[in-house]
Amino acid sequence: MTQLSNEKKDSCNWDSIVIGSGLGGLVTASQLASKGAKVLVLEQYKIPGGSGGSFKRKGFTFDVGASMIFGFGDKGYTNLLTRALKDVGQECETIPDPTQLAYHLPNQLEISVDRDYQKFITKLINLFPHEEKGIKHFYETCWDVFNCLNSMPLLSIEDPAYLMKVFFKSPLSCLGLARWLPVNAGDVAMRHIKDPDLLRFIDIECFCWSVMPANLTPMINAGMVFSDRHFGGINYPKGGVGIIAEKLVKGIENLGGQIRYKSRVKKIILEKGNAIGVSLENDEEIFSKTVISNATRWDTFGGQGIKSPLVATENKPISEKKWETRYIPSPSFLSLHLGVNIDAIPANTHCHHLLLDKWEEMEKEQGVTFVSIPTLLDPTLAPTGSHIVHAFTPSSIDNWDGLSNKEYLAKKKEDGEKLISKLERLFPNLSKNILHKEIGSPRTHKRFLARNKGSYGPIPSMRLPGLLPMPFNTTKINGLYCVGDSCFPGQGLNAVAFSGYACAHKIGTKLGMNKWELPE
Ligand SMILES: Cc1cc2nc3c(=O)[nH]c(=O)nc-3n(C[C@H](O)[C@H](O)[C@H](O)COP(=O)(O)OP(=O)(O)OC[C@H]3O[C@@H](n4cnc5c(N)ncnc54)[C@H](O)[C@@H]3O)c2cc1C
Repeated sequence: MTQLSNEKKDSCNWDSIVIGSGLGGLVTASQLASKGAKVLVLEQYKIPGGSGGSFKRKGFTFDVGASMIFGFGDKGYTNLLTRALKDVGQECETIPDPTQLAYHLPNQLEISVDRDYQKFITKLINLFPHEEKGIKHFYETCWDVFNCLNSMPLLSIEDPAYLMKVFFKSPLSCLGLARWLPVNAGDVAMRHIKDPDLLRFIDIECFCWSVMPANLTPMINAGMVFSDRHFGGINYPKGGVGIIAEKLVKGIENLGGQIRYKSRVKKIILEKGNAIGVSLENDEEIFSKTVISNATRWDTFGGQGIKSPLVATENKPISEKKWETRYIPSPSFLSLHLGVNIDAIPANTHCHHLLLDKWEEMEKEQGVTFVSIPTLLDPTLAPTGSHIVHAFTPSSIDNWDGLSNKEYLAKKKEDGEKLISKLERLFPNLSKNILHKEIGSPRTHKRFLARNKGSYGPIPSMRLPGLLPMPFNTTKINGLYCVGDSCFPGQGLNAVAFSGYACAHKIGTKLGMNKWELPE
């Protein structure tokens, strides 16, 4: 355990300080609290949840980012949001979504992904009858991966005792996962499918949550997403996505933990190479036995233009420099949060949509458009007679930095209008029915989420062997851990919840707080 000097030991009230209240940070904190640890969460913003939070404006409850929620199933082991809440005595009422997503793709390729697996596969086979075998092979392989994951409690792969216990519990699943760890979804798709349009469809299936084509998307993540949407399903938390974070905070506080808002951590304090606490922007110092960073790895260790990382540059471990050559920040987003008249949205519309006009624009600036209308599932999010439309499209901060204030505002307005006109392909009456409009740029994401370049998260800078090079939670600095979307297994609320479970488990072994038996 980290050795503190006597003076600091006296002022050290905490077992763990968590920097950031994203879902990764909150799952770590709540898991640690449930093990009996004394936990303090420090959040730079005024509400919890980070990209998985919600904010209120003029009677509308908008989701900051995530709206398509995995991990709320009621069976198996991959329902990590349900489990994380339950472990601290909390629960969210959820509304099942009958459809994960409706795709509107080039060459009039229109298909929606039903909660019912057979229904979706039959529709896809009807569109590509000559590829029936390939379609079945690809998606059944995804089920194989998912079934391995779903047959064991998901904790820290860094803990040899856990590995031994799960191996005895589910030896075949462990071997299955080891097999798929270094594989990308594109490798599997190419083995079974030849039709270029169908391969492009698999690409966009991956891109829609990994922001990468299939050949760069790890098979473990693909297996998880492409199967869990049918197994546990997509379920929207009643009251908005931010309710998940609010309930986790309540659970942490009920167990004696604390969260402090508007508390930006400036530096992680090191003593003799050990992380022993943090200093805030107002120079207050707080000490603890362990420190967990929910900030991105760039914001934690520097690189990619970050001038003042949480760990002083001279203490940056070599392993982090290596990570930086393998992963780069994905683009951020241009986002629109609209409150609209109910007439703008035709009846029987799906909640989530993805639009792409030309295949070659998939990875381009503002190429793909994502749309969510969560009020179709939970009308209480908006005043009676209105809907919420949340749309976003990938955009790099490089196109927004260096503009004068006037140029910046003009670009926001112009790009926002372009995005609205793209949405009018689906909702022709949209622009004349807007009641409230907020446009967020990559600079907005960077500022409010404290994320380097406002990035969605790390993406491979080169072709990598699946998830194998993605770092876990421990760092080369004793007492310092990382959690969230720049750790294994990557982006998405359920993925960062997995990272949170793993992080808390690893720290639990160090603090001697883990139960011997595996969770039910
Ligand atoms: C537009 C958009 C749409 C998305 N849609 C989906 C979706 O539909 N489904 C899905 O599953 N996922 C979606 N995601 C991804 C998902 O939201 C993220 O992967 C996930 O929320 C990241 O969680 P995190 O805990 O790693 O980090 P974050 O959510 O970024 O949280 C980090 C927290 O740390 C705080 N922080 C940072 N630095 C400091 C500091 N120095 N001091 C104090 N606090 C600090 C930040 O303020 C923030 O609250 C979406 C993301 C975006 C941006």
